[in-house]
Amino acid sequence: MDTGWLQKYPQKSSVREAFDFAKEAHKDKKRNSGEPYFSHCEAVAETVSEWGLDDESVAAALLHDVIEDTSYTLRDIEKRFGKEIASIVDGLTKLDKVPFPEKDQNVETLRKFIISFSRDLRVVIVKLADRHHNMFTLKFLPPERQKSFAWETSEIYAPLAYRLGMQRLSGELEDLTFPFLHPEEYKWLLKNVKVKFEEREKYAEELKPLVKKLLLKNSIRPIAVDSRAKRYSSLYKKLHRHDMDFEKIYDLVALRIVVKTVEDCYATLGIIHKIWPPLPGRIKDYIARPKPNGYRSLHTTVFAGDNKITEFQIRTEEMHREDELGIAAHWAYEQVKGSKRNGRNWRGVRNHKELLWVEQLRSWQQNISDKDFVDSLAVDFFKERIFVITPHNDVIDLPHGATPVDFAYHIHSEIGNQCVGAKVNGKIVPLDYELRSGDMVEIMTQRGKNPSEGWLRFIKTSLARDQIKGMIRKVTRFPASREPESTEFKIVNRDRPGFLKDVTGEFSAMKINITYLQSSTDKRGVLSTVTVRTEPLSKTKIEKLLVKIKSVEGVKEVSSKFNR
Ligand code: MN
Repeated sequence: MDTGWLQKYPQKSSVREAFDFAKEAHKDKKRNSGEPYFSHCEAVAETVSEWGLDDESVAAALLHDVIEDTSYTLRDIEKRFGKEIASIVDGLTKLDKVPFPEKDQNVETLRKFIISFSRDLRVVIVKLADRHHNMFTLKFLPPERQKSFAWETSEIYAPLAYRLGMQRLSGELEDLTFPFLHPEEYKWLLKNVKVKFEEREKYAEELKPLVKKLLLKNSIRPIAVDSRAKRYSSLYKKLHRHDMDFEKIYDLVALRIVVKTVEDCYATLGIIHKIWPPLPGRIKDYIARPKPNGYRSLHTTVFAGDNKITEFQIRTEEMHREDELGIAAHWAYEQVKGSKRNGRNWRGVRNHKELLWVEQLRSWQQNISDKDFVDSLAVDFFKERIFVITPHNDVIDLPHGATPVDFAYHIHSEIGNQCVGAKVNGKIVPLDYELRSGDMVEIMTQRGKNPSEGWLRFIKTSLARDQIKGMIRKVTRFPASREPESTEFKIVNRDRPGFLKDVTGEFSAMKINITYLQSSTDKRGVLSTVTVRTEPLSKTKIEKLLVKIKSVEGVKEVSSKFNR
């Protein structure tokens, strides 16, 4: 057995002792796959260790099935390993006994329940590692059990991982359930997608060295340029929305560029747009505006070689690590910083306000922390919230009484501003309609449309209120128009390597969201013009920025205007 991962834990450490203890305790038992039972415990612990969790979590991972499957009791664990490890093991054992009724409509409540119930976030993370490993051996279970297990994983654990920012794990879990939940579709996809994937992967491989060379020429040293194939499960969902037409899936294979700094991210975006024109409306700046689960990256879709539509994702190493590990990454950072934290207090996430969902839970769970498990099941502690679903199957969490307008602003400010109508469960409803949990909400928009002052009478969220008020102020100043409003800068400069990097650096230093970036060089290749569009900026901000841009080496002329 390969126990290489164990090497970093000293002899006599709690991890080593838990290893020997669990191995001995499970020695007579085999998995359905025929392997020794302990191989499962070890695999879970190895994953938890790789994610950078603390020793207590790794030890608890080794011991997580001891109470359930051997004659040892919680008391034995506590005596041997102390209260902290025992309490994580206890949480994991109890979590296994929570019944998940497949008919339950409000799976989001179940997800939240798991977090609240666990009390210690480490329980949830070890549980996710446990679930991940179990999914690999699912084929050894009886067919009926397979399906409900896969359902639980897809409906509860994969979204939970996503909400915790562990996007890669979430995607993997979802993908592992796909053949069990949708066997016919899976077979269809395997048959039809193979050639497409191979073709796209080959093309991405050809693009990689080109991108690397391009970046180096502009004095950006990429840390990695990778291609990533779209997962089967999400590909299938997307195909469904696009008449099963592969040509409409732009990110079948996406290229991922990892660079050193945020400035490099924006500069890379500009360099890519310099060579390949971007598809309008597909630049997504998740650095200036991270997703609610904390995800950060720049996304753009361009017409690359042979006019093939290609998606690029640009990020720093830190963003990359967070995308893989989510909340566990924050945990690891906290540990590295040396503050001896106590996991039960959630200190690992306290400073990351982007993980709002978890923060909310933290405050909610305080109200139920003293109740025992059966009691808290009965208390509807989420009665103040409703959970509605987007056409993309994302669950959106809103206050009781929220309307389609609140929903629209929750998705994106532009969707809110341009909202003209709404459908709930396929039927058109008025904009002041009171949404209910489980509603599937679809927003109809019209370009150039502005919010109505009357909405302020019925909306429920402060997010929508602030956005509407802000827009009304802006519209009164600048009459309505069709194009989305922006501030545009034209920068004429002497073309030199690193110029884009320096100039976009000034924007990101001021935390300004770039919505468009293009550069063109004149015929002699001496002067180039960079066009940058941003969200509409205040006069003071523009003036400050102009001064900064002028001081960038090589700049000949700068002008700015307001686009509407
Ligand atoms: Mn297990």
